[in-house]
Amino acid sequence: RARRQRGRLLDLHREVARYLHEMLFTREATHARDYLKSRGFGKDMAVNWQVGWMPENPETFLSWARTQNFKRGEWIEAGIFVEKDRGGIYVRFRDRLMFPIRNEHGDVIAFTARQLRHDPNSGKYINSPETALFKKSKVLFALDRARKSILTEQAVLICEGQLDAISCHEQGITHVIATGGTAFTPDHAKLLRRYAKKALLCFDADKAGIEATEKAFRVLAAEGLPVRVVRMPAGEDPDSFMQKHGAEAFREVLGNAVDFFDFKIDRASAAGLLADPQQRLEFAKECTSLLSLIPDAVIREGMIQHVGTRLKAGTIELRDAVFRTARAAK
Ligand code: ATP
Ligand code: MN
Ligand code: MN
Ligand code: MN
Repeated sequence: RARRQRGRLLDLHREVARYLHEMLFTREATHARDYLKSRGFGKDMAVNWQVGWMPENPETFLSWARTQNFKRGEWIEAGIFVEKDRGGIYVRFRDRLMFPIRNEHGDVIAFTARQLRHDPNSGKYINSPETALFKKSKVLFALDRARKSILTEQAVLICEGQLDAISCHEQGITHVIATGGTAFTPDHAKLLRRYAKKALLCFDADKAGIEATEKAFRVLAAEGLPVRVVRMPAGEDPDSFMQKHGAEAFREVLGNAVDFFDFKIDRASAAGLLADPQQRLEFAKECTSLLSLIPDAVIREGMIQHVGTRLKAGTIELRDAVFRTARAAK
């Protein structure tokens, strides 16, 4: 029964994606196409990614939905309809750009929907809820398209936003996936490890993105994936950076990615933490807990030496501290 139910939900998502994509090319959706244009995307991108538009008037969608062979319960299960307390229903999305989220095999399993006009009463993005098909902590946007390139590049480029991943792919940088936020989970890392030998983190160059970088390092390191960090000017994300400076400049930025520990040490140094011996010691301690996450002994040893040198800390002491942290964690 569960399998049949899954099949029905997949059919529903496929049909909804098809319908919403058609809606994007209607007269009513002119502002949605203009919005895409204003962000530098043309029809090609919309077709490639099956971008859709959810009409402003819920009746438009509802009257189409009624012609479809799905039960009310299935629409609710898919999260397209939301049940009200009084038993009525409403459509979750309204006047939004609709991006299908696919599993690694390419089946549509959810949607992420972007606001077209700024409205502080509602999120910039709204996602499908967790369903039998969609577990946010296990899904990576664009993995279905990136899989092959990740295997050939032996590396995966991880960004936050769906539009970051889309921009990269449209510019021919195709080993790219998006988490859909800053949360990066052990399941994400396990999924990526099947394809990638190393990870390149390219979260937004803002406070949230920088904090998420260290968290993602912990998760990726624990799964045995070496991590490099892409550095962009403050405030940028991959999409905004390419809009301003072009894809070639972004490729250059990718080429200049640094090892996670260099990223961390450079930041500490810029913040003046390394000038004072006491603060430098504190910072070295912070590094030991991160170094202890690296499972491969040879790689860990190499990194201990590197960090020790950069912090002018005794490598032997640093190594001992790393082992103590690792033991304490067991
Ligand atoms: P855009 O370029 O369209 O403004 P973005 O991708 O740069 O979007 P960020 O604010 O950097 O947006 O957020 C990164 C990602 O986090 C988004 O792509 C989206 O997947 C998710 N996200 C952002 N805001 C929300 C929200 N209010 N609710 C749910 N998810 C969100
Ligand atoms: Mn962000
Ligand atoms: Mn962003
Ligand atoms: Mn953006």
